[in-house]
Amino acid sequence: MSKSLQAIRGMNDILPEQTPLWRYFESTVARLLDNYGYKQIRMPIVEFTELFKRSIGEVTDIVEKEMYTFEDRNGDSLTLRPEGTAACVRAVLEHGLTGGGQPQKLWYIGPMFRHERPQKGRYRQFHQIGLEVFNLDGPDIDAELIVLTWRLWGMLGIRDAVKLELNSLGTSESRGRYRVALVEYLSAHLDKLDEDSQRRLKTNPLRVLDTKNADTQAVLVDAPKMADYLDDESRTHFEGLKARLDAVGIPYVINPKLVRGLDYYSKTVFEWVTDKLGAQGTVCAGGRYDGLVEQMGGKPTTGVGFAMGIERLILLLETLEQVPEEISRQVDVYLCAFGEAAELAALTLSEKVRDQLPNLRLQINAGAGSFKSQFKKADKSGALYALILGDDELAQQVIGFKPLRGQGEQQNIAFDALAAHLATCVVQG
Ligand code: ATP
Ligand code: MG
Repeated sequence: MSKSLQAIRGMNDILPEQTPLWRYFESTVARLLDNYGYKQIRMPIVEFTELFKRSIGEVTDIVEKEMYTFEDRNGDSLTLRPEGTAACVRAVLEHGLTGGGQPQKLWYIGPMFRHERPQKGRYRQFHQIGLEVFNLDGPDIDAELIVLTWRLWGMLGIRDAVKLELNSLGTSESRGRYRVALVEYLSAHLDKLDEDSQRRLKTNPLRVLDTKNADTQAVLVDAPKMADYLDDESRTHFEGLKARLDAVGIPYVINPKLVRGLDYYSKTVFEWVTDKLGAQGTVCAGGRYDGLVEQMGGKPTTGVGFAMGIERLILLLETLEQVPEEISRQVDVYLCAFGEAAELAALTLSEKVRDQLPNLRLQINAGAGSFKSQFKKADKSGALYALILGDDELAQQVIGFKPLRGQGEQQNIAFDALAAHLATCVVQG
C-alpha cells in the first residue's frame, strides 16, 4: 500500500475483534462512575495551543516536545489535546460550572495525542478516562478517587497486579521552600547530573526527581526529601488521606520521588503501577491541583483528578487473561432461510420477535447460500442457537430451532410461539 494510505505511526485502529473488550471496559467504568455520582462531560479534541501552555506548563515534556500543534486556516495556533484536565477546566470556567464555590464531580473519555516514541503501551493517539473534582478540598475526596479505582480493579479482576504509589507535593509555599533546598543540593553535585537534569535544574527542578538516569538517581539518594518540607496543612491533608486508605484496607507505598510530569499538581499525587507491562507500567495517575483554576484565570477553585490509560488497562486485562468469555459472543441467534419466500417470511418474523425481545441479538443470514454454507456461518457467528426456515417449515408456519452448543435437541417452533421460546433460553442483556 502506498505510504499515504497507511495510518499514522502510533495511531491505531481498534479492530472489530478488539472492540468487545473496549466496550466491556468502558461500560464497566461508566457504570461505576454513575454509581459514585460523577457526571460525564465531553470537550472538543482541539483547543487553542495557549490553553495547554498556560495549564500544563511551558517546561514540561508534553508542551516542549509532544504536542500536535498546527495553524488553522485563520492563522490560529491549535493543538490536539494531549490530556483532558486543561480542556475540562476551560469548559468548567467558560460555563460557570464552579460558580459560587459549587462542587463538581466530572468525568470524560476520549482520545489524547502526544508525539512520543511509539512502543508497547505508548502511542501517539491513546485513550484516557479522566475524573476531575472541583471545589472539594478535603482528603475525603482524594480518598474517594482512589477508593473507586480500587473498586474498579476489583471489578476487572486486576487488583493483585497493580500497586498504589502516593506522595504529597505540599502547598505551593512548601514546595517553593523545598525547591530552594533541592536546587542548592543539586547545584553542589552539578557535574554528576545528566544533561537533561542539568537543564531541568534551571527550568523545573522538581522534575529532576523523575529522572531515569542512574548517575543522577545516585545523587538523589541523599537529596532533601519533600516530606521534611511539608507545612501543617499539607501534612494534615496527607494524614487524612492515608487514614482513609488504611480504613478501607487499600495498600499503598509512599514514593518520595513521585512528582508527575505536569506542573500543576499540589498536595496529593498518586499513580497505580503494574509490573506486568514492561516499561509502560503506570495505568492510572493523578493528583490535586488546587492552584490550576486560578492560574487559568478563574476564581480560586480547588481541584483533584486522575486519568487512566485505556490501552494499558486493556493490555493488562489481556496479559492477565481477565477477559470475560461472554463479551466476545455478540450473537444469540442466527437465522438461516432458504429460498425467496422463506427469506421474506424470515424477515417479517424476525421483526416481530425484535418487537417483543428488544435486547435479543438476532442475526439474519445475508447473501443466501446453501444449507451447508449458512450453517457454517451460523456456527462461526458464535450464536447459541440457529433458526432454520425453508419451504417445508414455511408451509407449516414453524421454524427449526437448533441448539449449536450442545444444549438439547432440534425442534420445530410455531411462528407465534418463537419469541416466548427464545425468551426462555436466551439471557437478555
Ligand atoms: P508516562 O509516565 O507513562 O509517560 P504520563 O505521566 O505522561 O505517563 P499522564 O499524563 O499522567 O501520563 O496520563 C495518565 C495516563 O495516561 C498514564 O498513566 C498512562 O496510563 C496513560 N498514557 C499517558 N501517555 C500515554 C501514551 N502515550 N500512550 C498510552 N497511554 C498513555
Ligand atoms: Mg508521558
